[in-house]
Amino acid sequence: MDFSSKLLENAVYEMSQLPGIGKRTALRLVLHLLKQPKEQTERLSNALLNLRSEIKFCENCHNISDVAVCEICANPKRDRSLVCVVEDIRDVMAIENTSQYKGLYHVLGGKISPMEGIGPQDLTIGSLVDKARKGEVKEFIFALSSTMEGDTTNFYIYKQLKGLDINTSTIARGIAVGDELEYADEVTLGRSILNRIPFEGSLKAN
Ligand SMILES: [Zn+2]
Repeated sequence: MDFSSKLLENAVYEMSQLPGIGKRTALRLVLHLLKQPKEQTERLSNALLNLRSEIKFCENCHNISDVAVCEICANPKRDRSLVCVVEDIRDVMAIENTSQYKGLYHVLGGKISPMEGIGPQDLTIGSLVDKARKGEVKEFIFALSSTMEGDTTNFYIYKQLKGLDINTSTIARGIAVGDELEYADEVTLGRSILNRIPFEGSLKAN
């Protein structure tokens, strides 16, 4: 792409660094912003800057939060003996939408993926094991997507928890083909949490 303006080129370049945004889309978005009042670009820029500078991660579950302990963890009505292990905030949002789950979460921040160079130490697995050792948690529910990375991560955590007096379960498989939790419909996802199966049983079935 030949740009008549270095300023335009820079803006398009930065926009095109976002996932799913090619150079042409980036150009369209930037030109759109230029046509709008200047305040709109300021609001967008400020929202992103504030997000980066003020965002926190809950010290208990590692979910994105505006405060040190997120609303879910701070809620005395939630069952603290039940912890659902998920990849990121999108899964928390999907499960919360079902209104079927009253436990807490543990957000891993990703899945173990040797291909992408993501190892257990890059995730919040250490903190999960510490949590397990404290004795308050009775059951961890694995709710990662049923990909090879998801399976590897579940199994790794399962092994770390061996020897502790803690149940592990997994949500019913086949909740939706294509299988990212965020795409499963609420009724199916809610049911699969209620009808979860012991993790060890799921290993034998595979
Ligand atoms: Zn939390």
